[in-house]
Order: sequence, then structure tokens, then C-alpha cells
Amino acid sequence: MAPLFVPGPVDVDPEVLNAQTKAVLPHRSKEYEKIFHRAEGKMRPLFGTKYRVFITASSGSGLQEAAVRNLANQRVLACVNGAFSQRWFNVALSNGKNVDRVDAEWGQPITVEMVAEQLKKEDYEILTIVHNETSVGLENPVKEIAKLVSDVSPETLVCVDAVSSLGGVEFLMDEWGVDFVLTSSQKALALPPGLGFAATSDRALHRAEYVANRGWYFDLLKMEEYRLRNSTPATSAVTLVYALARQMERIHEEGLQARFARHQEMAEKVREWALSKDFALYAAVGYQSKTVTTVSNTHEIDVAGLNEVLLKKNMRIANGYGSLKNKTFRIAHMGETQPEDLDELFQSIDEFMRW
Ligand code: PLP
Repeated sequence: MAPLFVPGPVDVDPEVLNAQTKAVLPHRSKEYEKIFHRAEGKMRPLFGTKYRVFITASSGSGLQEAAVRNLANQRVLACVNGAFSQRWFNVALSNGKNVDRVDAEWGQPITVEMVAEQLKKEDYEILTIVHNETSVGLENPVKEIAKLVSDVSPETLVCVDAVSSLGGVEFLMDEWGVDFVLTSSQKALALPPGLGFAATSDRALHRAEYVANRGWYFDLLKMEEYRLRNSTPATSAVTLVYALARQMERIHEEGLQARFARHQEMAEKVREWALSKDFALYAAVGYQSKTVTTVSNTHEIDVAGLNEVLLKKNMRIANGYGSLKNKTFRIAHMGETQPEDLDELFQSIDEFMRW
């Protein structure tokens, strides 16, 4: 069953899956270190960074925890407008941080004005924001918010969760002034689940030197010490890194700009289809995600029933997230998905609806 059109874990190309079947190398061996080094170098352009990308044996949520533990002693500002930014707020709270929040209604973006208002009141060590809120299909204006922060509160490090956008959407971390960007393997990068990635600036690493109780597993300074030797403090997920190395080659063969354009084209295609069928789009105009579209279920489609039919054709869409279940449904268009795949999906939905 191919989990096509769900926002992760997504379909993985057979070549990438097969890359995992090579003999397992010890993670402290010259042969493995070479593969690790090459993969890490090829990831940097995806984040738009010249610095470094940490590769962890964890999912992305682990790196939400790494950000708050390493980069803030106390003062965190969490931007919340969906389930995953709410999670990051909870992660910060559960690590004992002092967290304020800027909230936007689900489906609405965090704006520069909202953040500016809060930054007038308090100083923060870090600001957390989700680039692409998978729960609502919305892209926050991270570039603009990072610019504001560097203008009015330059000591605040901007930390971004780009779990469902990185690899499908342009991200220019260094140019935008972002200091920490985390993502997971199983979304737009189209890898199997199990790896986390965190691009980290020098400034962020320097901050970590002054933060107490960074923990052990995700201590960025320890991770850097090992990364400089092309390794990880604990055992690497060796076979997943084989898959990563192959997928990085494939992504660069496609070309980053071509890959981003493909995602943009698919997003436009889904939006056009939804509007042509008199559905509404859940996320605010101008902020709709390029990797997952959340459609307001105005025709009250039986999403579970539709998926039963779709599954027979190896397709599947996602129901709305949490309280949005059945009120919305989500069509993901990330990773290996091609514009033509969407035609097949639309035709099947049309048949199901007898349109
Ligand atoms: N952040 C976002 C935006 C997500 O979409 C998800 C998962 O869907 C997560 C974080 C959590 O990632 P993981 O399941 O890799 O921990």
C-alpha cells in the first residue's frame, strides 16, 4: 500500500529503499565516515546554509527538544498556529522553560506585527516557529519574521521547524538570518522515517556554550565534536544514512529549483481542483502550503469511505488533523509525488463522488 498523498511518512523510491540493503558498516569506520560526510555536505544547500547539518537517529520532535534545551536557559517565545507549533510550546514547557506565546487562529498565519508587538514587551533567547504547519496546510512567513527579529531583537535566535517543507520548498537559512532549522526524513525529503536533521549556525553553537543542562543525547556541542570527525556521539542509523546519501544524489540530479517548482505546480493543481469542485481551502489566501493542501470538506465527503476506495488503487489521502477530522481533509504533494499522480487521484475522487 503506497501511502501517497498523506503528509508523511511518504512513499520512498525503490532505489533509496534498496540502498539500505548494503552491508552494515561500523559507524566508526573510515568507509562509513566518508558516506556520512558526503551526505551531510549535500544536505546544506537544501537548508541554504554554509554551516553544518546534524544528522540524528530520531524523528524531528527530538530536535524540537534539542532547540529549547541547547539554545535557551529560560526565555522562549513560541509562535503557535497549529498542532506542531503547539507541540513545540509543550516541549519547551516540559523542559522547564519560561514560555510565552504568540497565537494565531488555526488556518491563519503568524504575522510580523504579532511578533513585533510581543518583542516590545519582553526579551527572549529564542523564538520558535513552524515553517509549514502540516495540521492546517499553512506556510508561515518565516523570512519576514526572521528579518523583524534581527532588526529589533538581534540576540533572539530564530528556530524553525521545517519538517514538512524542507526539500520541497526553498529555504535560505543563512540569508534569512535563521539560526536553527530542524526537519524529519519522512516528509518532503522522501526518506524512510527515523532520521532527524538540524542545520545549526555558529551563533547558535556559541549560545549553547552558555546554556546549562543541555542534556546528553541532543547536546549540540557534543554533536559538533563528533560531526567534525564525520560521526555521531552515539551509534549512527547506518543503513538510513545509506538511504540518505542516495536520496541526496537523486535530489541534486533533479535540481533544487526544479524540485521546488514541481512542488509549487502540484500545490497549484490541488488548489485549482478543490476550488473548481466548490470546496474551500482551509488556510488563508497567500499562506497556503506548497507541500500539503488542507481542503474544507464542504461536500461532507466520507473521508474514511473514500480512502477505502482509494486504497484499492494504492492511493490514500489524510483526514483533517485532530478536531479538524472530517471537517477538512488533506492532500499531500511532497517527495516523490508527481503532478500526473494528482490527475489519477482527482479522477478517483470524482468517481467516488459520482461527479
Ligand atoms: N513538525 C511538523 C510540522 C510535523 O508535520 C511533524 C509531523 O508530522 C512533526 C513536527 C513531528 O515530526 P516527527 O514525527 O518526525 O517527530
